[in-house]
Amino acid sequence: MYIELKNINKIYPNGYHAVHNFNLEIEKGEFVVFVGPSGCGKSTTLRMIAGLENISNGEFLIEGKRANEMGPRERKVAMVFQSYALYPQMTVYDNIAFGLTLQGVDEDVIEKRVKETARILGLTDYLDRLPRALSGGQRQRVAIGRAIIRKVGIFLMDEPLSNLDAKQRVTMRYEIAKIHKETGATTIYVTHDQTEAMTLADKIVVMKDGYIQQVGTPYDLYFKPANVFVAGFIGEPPMNFAPSRVSGGCIRFGGAELDLTPRYADAKKLEGKEVIFGFRPEAAVLQPQEDAYRIDCNVELTEMLGDYTNVYITVGEQQAILKVDSHDTPQTDAPFTFYIPYSGVYLFDGETEKVI
Ligand code: ADP
Repeated sequence: MYIELKNINKIYPNGYHAVHNFNLEIEKGEFVVFVGPSGCGKSTTLRMIAGLENISNGEFLIEGKRANEMGPRERKVAMVFQSYALYPQMTVYDNIAFGLTLQGVDEDVIEKRVKETARILGLTDYLDRLPRALSGGQRQRVAIGRAIIRKVGIFLMDEPLSNLDAKQRVTMRYEIAKIHKETGATTIYVTHDQTEAMTLADKIVVMKDGYIQQVGTPYDLYFKPANVFVAGFIGEPPMNFAPSRVSGGCIRFGGAELDLTPRYADAKKLEGKEVIFGFRPEAAVLQPQEDAYRIDCNVELTEMLGDYTNVYITVGEQQAILKVDSHDTPQTDAPFTFYIPYSGVYLFDGETEKVI
């Protein structure tokens, strides 16, 4: 294993326990994303990996060697921050070359590496410019260039797209994926944005309140969320949830009574249990289906978003959102019927919030 974090904890000097028992293995070349709401400990963990923050306890290994006490240089990491921190008086060429110049690398070697880096980043035509004559996205590319030119083993990025506007973010996201494909560098990327996490990652680590909630591929997190938090965090709009008690093998969703037995063969075991029923907005189908729950609802509001429309519904007291093809947009303030295939239904333990 290339990188291993074993039971890593961070307790800040003021006593705040920011990261709890963090366990993770990262293979060479993997693109790993730490995602979670602000304050969940993503940056703290990244900074411990970078060697910018000491590890309170636990073990951090690089290629099987304990690295807790290694300095950032020895760890062979390069970090890209939100603020690009470019030198304003230096050209793009000099900004990219800076780290190598400091190391006293030969001019010829530097030139070759700068040109190669600029080619990967699409900056070849901008090497003579100063940072102020670049767009936000181009500046961010220069910042990335400064990191990748060093050919380090581990590439760390902390919210690198947060200073860009929405359009630039989408372009840069694609660029970062391309750079990773081309360089194959092991990358650890921090973001609070689930779309960035889903689109970039080989492996996502979802965090909340300093604890890992789930580690998995984007596919696993979407289709097999471990708990209510992950199910609600991944996916847009978020999964619909409804608390209910299992009674006679059924749960209640607003006014509707849903028989669990066709979906959960051992539904009997759940009798009397508090559960949380969940389904994704995009799981709703409008044509009658076998192996599906039929739900009669009322349409409160619709939001047309292009090819799809968000439909806000109520079923009795229960509210939910459906995502439907815009051609099938229902009328507001009118009754409406949809179906949830059994395969699109999730059930979580009402107490632990873990998936059942
Ligand atoms: P994230 O990157 O997920 O937004 P951080 O890792 O920056 O979260 O912070 C995690 C928690 O640790 C937050 O509650 C934050 O306030 C706290 N924290 C961060 N830095 C320090 C520090 N130097 N001293 C005390 N608490 C800190």
